[in-house]
Amino acid sequence: MHEMSLAEGVLQLIEDAARQQRFATVRTVWLEIGQLSGVEPEALAFCFEAVTLGSVAQGARLEIIRLPGTGWCMACSRTVPMNEVFGECPACGSHQLQVTGGTEMRVRELDVT
Ligand SMILES: [Zn+2]
Repeated sequence: MHEMSLAEGVLQLIEDAARQQRFATVRTVWLEIGQLSGVEPEALAFCFEAVTLGSVAQGARLEIIRLPGTGWCMACSRTVPMNEVFGECPACGSHQLQVTGGTEMRVRELDVT
């Protein structure tokens, strides 16, 4: 599963931070997931719970923040909201859209003790 390796990547980030900042437990993880990232939040939450067993993030609450997708419409020459990667411009219906935002996934914040 694609989400399993992503969850492992998130855990890796948390463990690196734990070493640097010397914390022992993570209570909450705020994770930003762009709408166009292709990441399934429910699947990721499930995998996260599995990969964090026995780690500093075991039992941590995962708060997922969905970031809206945005694209640049060449026909309208402006930024428009996008719901899917190969979507159309909501203003003019053109498919000549370049994705400009919402493809990322990153840890925004950790609540640690
Ligand atoms: Zn357009």
